[in-house]
Amino acid sequence: MLNIPAFLKSSPLWLNLKDKLAGEVTPSAIALCLSGSLHSALLLEISKIMLCLNKDGCGRCLSCMAWSEGSHPDLIVSSEQGPPSVDQCREMIDELHLKAVVSSGRIGVVPCADKLNINSANSLLKITEEPPAGCRLIFLMEENRLIPTLRSRIWTIVFPEEDTFPPLSPPSGKAQWMGWLERISSFDREQLILELQGFIGFLVQKKLYLKASNLSQLIFLAGQTNLSVSMMGDMVFLLIEEEYPFESVFDRIW
Ligand SMILES: [Zn+2]
Repeated sequence: MLNIPAFLKSSPLWLNLKDKLAGEVTPSAIALCLSGSLHSALLLEISKIMLCLNKDGCGRCLSCMAWSEGSHPDLIVSSEQGPPSVDQCREMIDELHLKAVVSSGRIGVVPCADKLNINSANSLLKITEEPPAGCRLIFLMEENRLIPTLRSRIWTIVFPEEDTFPPLSPPSGKAQWMGWLERISSFDREQLILELQGFIGFLVQKKLYLKASNLSQLIFLAGQTNLSVSMMGDMVFLLIEEEYPFESVFDRIW
């Protein structure tokens, strides 16, 4: 059985995702972008949590017991090899409308989602927009290249390659933070995100997972909204230095 490599398991994106999967509000469609060699391992790990009746992959509930050699009656994988054809997408959609066998909802999987042809992608629009109750979709891809109509309905998580972001120590104390805010005022959003990825690496090394996860959530939200660089900078300061809870920081700016 494949395992998720340690660098991925300690990545804030993974920790944040695990957190989300365990929570009440899981996005109904997520796209995971990472090296193809890790797809099966990550899919297995995530769907074990998502299908578990206790939401943690307990290994003891009815749903956890239903796993057999990497397959599960409520895990519907549209294609064994390569991107699914339109017919394969439709078959999966039909299966997803059936009642879950042991879990509280079914999961549909779209492998090689970055290589979907336009017809297959279009056939998935409706279910992505309005999935049957309890149903969730997982898109796997190597490159962050979903067709735009699908992309806008899906929470995309791009996992970094190993060692892409060298850890970078965040400022400490008011004076340093003021200097940092001044410095980033000339950054564009991409530059700021790179810097934040470095902070995340540092925070994970220090085992400050909550702060790391907050920052990765901020990066996610920045991609969804029009947060300016200076607004993002202020939020980073509140999250890291002042240790405000994420929700209250986001509410303040919103
Ligand atoms: Zn379980």
